[in-house]
Amino acid sequence: MENATPGERREGWDRRRIWPSFRRVKIAVAKETREGESRVAMVPELVGKLTALGYDVAVEPGAGLHALIADEEYAEAGATLDPDAVAEADVVVSVQPLEVSTIRRLRRGASAISFLPTIAEQATVVELRDAGITAHAVELIPRISRAQSMDGLSSQALVSGYRCAIVAAGLLRRFFPLNMTAAGTVKAAEVVVLGAGVAGLQAIATSKRLGAVVRAYDVRAAAAEEIRSMGAKSIDLDLDTLEGAGGYAREMTEDRAARQRELLSPFIAAADALITTAAVPGRQAPMLVTRGMVETMKPGSVVVDLASETGGNVEGSVPGEVVRIGNAQVWGGRNVPSQMPGPASRLYAQNILNLVTLMTAKDDDGNAVFAPDFADEIVSGSCVTHDGAIVHEPTREAIEGAAPAPPDQTPPEVEPALDGESAPEAENAAAPDVARDEQLDLPYDQEADQ
Ligand code: NAD
Repeated sequence: MENATPGERREGWDRRRIWPSFRRVKIAVAKETREGESRVAMVPELVGKLTALGYDVAVEPGAGLHALIADEEYAEAGATLDPDAVAEADVVVSVQPLEVSTIRRLRRGASAISFLPTIAEQATVVELRDAGITAHAVELIPRISRAQSMDGLSSQALVSGYRCAIVAAGLLRRFFPLNMTAAGTVKAAEVVVLGAGVAGLQAIATSKRLGAVVRAYDVRAAAAEEIRSMGAKSIDLDLDTLEGAGGYAREMTEDRAARQRELLSPFIAAADALITTAAVPGRQAPMLVTRGMVETMKPGSVVVDLASETGGNVEGSVPGEVVRIGNAQVWGGRNVPSQMPGPASRLYAQNILNLVTLMTAKDDDGNAVFAPDFADEIVSGSCVTHDGAIVHEPTREAIEGAAPAPPDQTPPEVEPALDGESAPEAENAAAPDVARDEQLDLPYDQEADQ
């Protein structure tokens, strides 16, 4: 495997120097070990695409079990089943970050591709760094058009959005669609969706397909048209829109949040089912619905909070549980894509295949080599650790602290302020540049997407 430094260009590399005697590159599919994870990073129907690229594929026995994929299906597709697959691999693919004990078994210089929430998983990042692993985090892939087919956040949000609507329909003890029968007319259910990103739009589309009357709200200006294009009614709250960097939402001030809650209250009270999917990258999920608002809902109503795990859009929702608040059953989402492991794995595996394909080159003899080109923003943008260093700067800074200023850029000494007043320059110098760091973390590059 090649070990180019991020930013280094491909030109001039002599692959034969790196590959003195050719052997096929081995990709291992890890068995997920984290509690509640049922997905798998590769499915049998795509194994053939990897072997056609020139890779050997080795699967840890039982890797597909929870997604209802038998070991034999991988074998029939051309993979080998090997309990030591991970230890011998050049590239390890998984859904969740690898366990520390697994990372310690990897070969130095191997690559690992998975979801890797770097701030929550700092110990894992440190282990990957120290083991000399090149780790790519799927959620850091820039959200540009070229990367859409590799965008694991979107593929899994699609599954989550669908699942939320199905859960709401399942919990609600009434019809979603209008029914006109000889025995009378049954009104359609009223569904309110808050947050109309990838998951929210899918929840809207699914609720519409089931026949519900759907209203939705999102703080982004572009969302209203997207909501209408799904056949739902866009809730207009007569509030400023909150467009942040890169097409994402911006965080609300507490005043605006309170006003939004106030204006949304009548819509929530009238809803049979409320589905919340709102998120702001790098922040806790915004609290959109208070316990008091849920208490105004009708008997038998249902609340589905997809954001429960990241702080919750609904006050009192509990991840992985259904709790009773007032008249409503409140369902808190927990690893929601894992609740539909078959399709979620299929979509994620396609994202992984597309990413690996991007990172594949041919040597002079036409053999496939795993050769990530760090000049490509998809490769460098998703890379967290490489060659013993943390290369994703916001993660590096969170774990290792601010880099020392180069000698020629040392800030000039600030004169102590007179009369106990603090000097503004000194305050600015001391304050961490939070806004700048968060922008660095944003994966969606709207301009590049034009
Ligand atoms: P997300 O998961 O970060 O957030 C979900 C939604 O919550 C967003 O639409 C956001 O505007 C909304 N939200 C945040 N605060 C809110 C509040 N207080 N009240 C109501 N809604 C609130 O979003 P996402 O699904 O990842 O999508 C974010 C953007 O990225 C969208 O514009 C989407 O179209 C775009 N996107 C682009 C690509 C691409 O590859 N080009 C891929 C996926 C998404």
